[in-house]
Amino acid sequence: MASIKLQHVAKHFGTKVAISDVDLDVNDGEFLVLLGPSGCGKSTLLRMLAGLETVSSGEIHLNDRRVDQLPPSARDMAFVFQSYALYPHMSVRRNIAFPLIMRQFKWWFHIPLIGGWAKRRIERSPEVADLVEKTARTLSLTEMLDRYPRTLSGGQRQRVALGRAMVRQPEVFLMDEPLSNLDAKLRTAMRAEITRLHQRVGGTFVYVTHDQVEAMTMGTRIALMRDGVVQQFGTPREIYTSPANTYVARFIGTPPMNLIEGRVEGGMIKLGEASLPMPHGLAAAAHAAGEPILLGIRPNALTLGAAGAPGQLAGQVSLAGQVSLVEHVGAESVVAVKLSHASTAHDEEGAVPGEIMITTQGYSDLEPGDQVSVVADLSEAVLFSRATGERLR
Ligand code: ATP
Repeated sequence: MASIKLQHVAKHFGTKVAISDVDLDVNDGEFLVLLGPSGCGKSTLLRMLAGLETVSSGEIHLNDRRVDQLPPSARDMAFVFQSYALYPHMSVRRNIAFPLIMRQFKWWFHIPLIGGWAKRRIERSPEVADLVEKTARTLSLTEMLDRYPRTLSGGQRQRVALGRAMVRQPEVFLMDEPLSNLDAKLRTAMRAEITRLHQRVGGTFVYVTHDQVEAMTMGTRIALMRDGVVQQFGTPREIYTSPANTYVARFIGTPPMNLIEGRVEGGMIKLGEASLPMPHGLAAAAHAAGEPILLGIRPNALTLGAAGAPGQLAGQVSLAGQVSLVEHVGAESVVAVKLSHASTAHDEEGAVPGEIMITTQGYSDLEPGDQVSVVADLSEAVLFSRATGERLR
């Protein structure tokens, strides 16, 4: 088991800043997910942890040991690649045993005849055979030990790659998008399998993905990155309920959080023509008086009513609008509504000006063109500064 500490870690490729000044404290036994869009620097950060990339500045500590100057082999971290990186000419048994064989590497491995004989000896030694069998059992690979990678499915190959990482019993597992080559159904199954593996094997996991669902379901904590900078480091729940800024708010959740433009005036929140007392939980944002704000509200915290319906309870506001799109997604429907009086932060990626998204349970009978009232329960709302995008409470 191991804790990892990154202090002011930065990475430059020539003039390109891939990572700037990252600080992270990963606890012993934690499942940290590095999440972000393509090019945000998450693989570079993982590769620096592994020692496959040098740090330009800053320090990396494993427990109390500084490791950023050590070669990969001295770091006791196992890396699982997106491409699996299995040896095609080796059986599953030998692929899994390989890191143990290499641990006993001797110069005469290079002499083909002696090398082959020695490798077989090591592979069949009781300790190595025992560890390979144990690992194969944990990953349900026992039946496949004598098969070759080309005869395995993507999911089975992924399990062999995990086995090869596990067999060394490392302190830290580093995984770079290990599920991205699998189809959607298998991804979901492997997701649960890796989570169970983490619970069973223990150890500290650092997992790179651009998939928010993987991050939310697998991570004990998530570091959400953008342009080489960690935007927020927290539990999935913290990141979902209290996003640090509008970028985090829009990255997590499908459909993403709605951002409605407004203003704080005299202890009231004004959204277009609607105005309501500042809900209790948002009082800390009162200092933003007069400033433009964005009211962040998740699609599932909104309900739809007939046109003209008022917000019934304290802390609710009702906004008039017209349905522009309805999507039926099995157990729920996603309804897009163009607001009549309030506007939205349309400069956010994927946002349509003036439009908000609402998720409703079941099959919605609404149709484009219908006039509706959108009732927002502000107890779950978040306020952001319009100017900086930072959360105000
Ligand atoms: P992806 O999900 O697409 O793999 P990522 O978030 O893992 O993206 P990185 O691969 O870490 O991103 O890359 C971060 C930035 O650094 C990118 O702009 C990339 O082009 C750049 N970069 C990465 N490796 C190198 C390199 N060897 N030389 C120059 N630039 C690099």
